[in-house]
Amino acid sequence: MTDSAQPSSAPPWFSLEGALPMASSQSKTAVVVGGGLAGATAAYRLAQLGFKVTLLEAEDEVSQQASGNLAGAIHPLVTADWNLRSQFYLEGLQATLRWLKPWWHAGLIKGEHNGLMQLAMSPSMEKRLQSSLRVMPENFAIWQTPKQASERIGVQTDYGGLFFPQGGWVQPKSVVETCISHDNIEVMRQQKVEDIAAFQVNSSKKNDQAWRVSTANHHYDASVVVVATGALDEPFNSQLQLPIRPVKGQVTHLAKDKVKTPLKTTVTHEGYSVSGDFGLGDEVVAISGATFEAPDMTASLSLASQHHNEALAAKAMPNWLTDFDSTEILLGKVGFRPTTPDHLPIFGAVPDWSWVTEAYLQRKHTHAVRFYPNQRYQAGLYVSNGHGARGLMSAFLAADTIANSVAGAPPILSAKLRHAVHPARFLIRQWRKGESVENLENR
Ligand SMILES: Cc1cc2nc3c(=O)[nH]c(=O)nc-3n(C[C@H](O)[C@H](O)[C@H](O)COP(=O)(O)OP(=O)(O)OC[C@H]3O[C@@H](n4cnc5c(N)ncnc54)[C@H](O)[C@@H]3O)c2cc1C
Repeated sequence: MTDSAQPSSAPPWFSLEGALPMASSQSKTAVVVGGGLAGATAAYRLAQLGFKVTLLEAEDEVSQQASGNLAGAIHPLVTADWNLRSQFYLEGLQATLRWLKPWWHAGLIKGEHNGLMQLAMSPSMEKRLQSSLRVMPENFAIWQTPKQASERIGVQTDYGGLFFPQGGWVQPKSVVETCISHDNIEVMRQQKVEDIAAFQVNSSKKNDQAWRVSTANHHYDASVVVVATGALDEPFNSQLQLPIRPVKGQVTHLAKDKVKTPLKTTVTHEGYSVSGDFGLGDEVVAISGATFEAPDMTASLSLASQHHNEALAAKAMPNWLTDFDSTEILLGKVGFRPTTPDHLPIFGAVPDWSWVTEAYLQRKHTHAVRFYPNQRYQAGLYVSNGHGARGLMSAFLAADTIANSVAGAPPILSAKLRHAVHPARFLIRQWRKGESVENLENR
């Protein structure tokens, strides 16, 4: 990479070409911060590359926060014009299926590849789903009348919609556990990371640096660090310039006497409902969710949220649930989705924020693109976050992308999609619009 002007119209602030310094040549060691879906999948891919990975989790156990639900639905994002987000989540879904199909079939994870029925719950939704059939990949979805949808689901519904044979559900924790069982991964629990700092490695190679990751009582050195801290670690997320907003959600757990019959396929309506074996016997045979309750940050279950979930399921499938008693004990889970302003995740190499300030933010935003130099990155530092309400369709792709980058392999995603998830995109957009941006030199 040179600092001089590039004879190209590609946005230089998203450039990866020649700009990604290789991680330290000293050792194949990695630290992953965060034991949710994003951290565990990244750790697994790095372990497969031969890295000795230490995964640091703040809590007593992995997969307790957003990735702690008994089940998550796996499905594409359908927009009428198959926009950038639909395109991204299709790539994401395909990566998810590449990972999960062998694990489902080997019985290594809890979940089912039993298709997903997306019900069109309003005339506008029906129009959107119908239009999407014209632009969606062939054989990807099948339109179903209400009668056909009822047969698919196994209970009566008054709504038609799209059936996705590639959909299904999975228990995120079972994926996390499968990932961390890799021999090259060591998990350290109750290790809340407080600081990450680069240091110079004593080697003949110029600019060879590694990372020191510190908790209250230990430090861990590694050539590669992946930060996957989810929604709730605000100090960390803002240090990495990640505009993550936690969005509370509650899912409802349904015992055997609460449902009349198991669903034959995963269903999305104005929420989603899943039947299956979650490892809890008759105590939980189905789940329905989920609420969106930002800015509420209370972590307790609420009866109002439980009723909301039941009402959504009952509207879509009036004969599925048995009657509910409003004084019943609360059963479910609350989590906080790590969401971003554009509803796309943030993953990949972390830019050198001093360089972002010097090369872009301190300069006029009005020049032609070719007058700006290429982006620079912090060697060996990666992020996987902002997976929002669709982490099951993005965390696996994020892990693949990070591992590819560490290995120096060509990028998986097209330039358009790479730019759409780039960690610097929010700052660059702000600056290009002429809005003031905080000086980042000390980050
Ligand atoms: C109610 C609800 C329903 C959902 N339903 C679906 C669905 O149906 N389909 C779907 O695709 N997605 C769904 N999601 C979204 C999905 O669960 C998330 O996108 C995904 O779990 C995010 O994973 P993560 O690893 O980024 O975050 P998390 O799972 O929150 O993991 C972050 C981890 O980092 C740890 N950590 C944080 N800071 C530190 C630190 N400083 N040091 C060490 N460790 C730290 C935390 O303790 C945590 O374990 C749902 C989410 C919620 C809340």
